[in-house]
Amino acid sequence: MIEPVNSETHEVPTWPAASAPSASDETSKIAPKLSVVVPVYNEEDNLIPLHGKIDAALCNLGLTYEILYVDDGSRDRSFELLSEIAARDERAKVVRFRRNFGQTAAMSAGMNYASGEVIIPLDADLQNDPADIPRLLEKINEGYDVVSGWRKNRKDDEIRKFPSRVANRVISKVTGVHLHDYGCSLKAYRASVIKDVHLYGEMHRFIPAYAAMVGGKVTEIAVEHHPRFAGKSKYGMSRIFRVILDLMVVKFLGGYGNKPIYFFGGIGIGASLLGILCWLIAIAERLHKPENHINGNPLFYIGILLFVLSVQLVMLGLMAEMNMRTYYESQKKQPYVVAETRNIDGANSV
Ligand code: UDP
Ligand code: MG
Repeated sequence: MIEPVNSETHEVPTWPAASAPSASDETSKIAPKLSVVVPVYNEEDNLIPLHGKIDAALCNLGLTYEILYVDDGSRDRSFELLSEIAARDERAKVVRFRRNFGQTAAMSAGMNYASGEVIIPLDADLQNDPADIPRLLEKINEGYDVVSGWRKNRKDDEIRKFPSRVANRVISKVTGVHLHDYGCSLKAYRASVIKDVHLYGEMHRFIPAYAAMVGGKVTEIAVEHHPRFAGKSKYGMSRIFRVILDLMVVKFLGGYGNKPIYFFGGIGIGASLLGILCWLIAIAERLHKPENHINGNPLFYIGILLFVLSVQLVMLGLMAEMNMRTYYESQKKQPYVVAETRNIDGANSV
């Protein structure tokens, strides 16, 4: 729900303003804030031009905004430069990690500190173009909760683009959320949709899929992409394996996060049925050829193995159920997400 900043005016604003207002326009006073979140790790040569570009892209939009730089334990002059930027521009806010915790953690911290109703993460290396931000906002204004950037004309080596193309196809298929570019950091999120998303590992790539799980409306638009001119990429090919493992987690949490016994128990029941089938075949063979002893039939042992496996899987499912309940009940989480309420006081109305 978008609320006016100025409580005296009870009109509900559209946001960002449909007809681009000037900074002096009344709408700018009631426009809620936009938070741009920038994870920074050893990007000293990019920060000053980056800040200039973000400012240039946002200053004429007639809305209040903040730029949250999260220094992820840089060992170069990044923090010094960010402090200088923050001293000159109060819209620039800086969070410094004690050590390098990774891009996902940096993005997550930025989102936690953000106060905007729309959050836009952006890489610090000038590969994303802040000039695309107004177009992302237009889509949010159309009613989307997530607008994913698509680096249609991506300026990276083929050796990075090819695995990424495969990964995007697989992730789209597995999650059912069809996007061309999960890996593009430049995306726009309505804060209300991602405020409950906790990011672990390198999960920032999957935020659109998580958002869709809680009923968010997701779309994508093509965005600019530039080659990296300064600094180095922080990733190698090992991210392929991490993406595969993260995808398994996303799929499991999305499908069975609050009913794990159906997953483990389902496979367990399947295994025991297969075990029974093995025994039936072994018995039938024994009846057909009485000279063969059942002990000598491998199917008999495979049946026992499958049966033991099924018991273990059901046990694992029960353990996972207990874990899941602890997770939900210790945090007073509900297995549903409320969109809005009417005449209900103090309810979770987001
Ligand atoms: N980054 C970070 N912590 C890390 C690795 C990267 O904050 O441990 C930041 C980095 O400074 C950049 C963004 O995340 O702003 C994307 O990183 P990079 O450009 O290396 O990724 P690529 O574009 O090569 O996928
Ligand atoms: Mg980059």
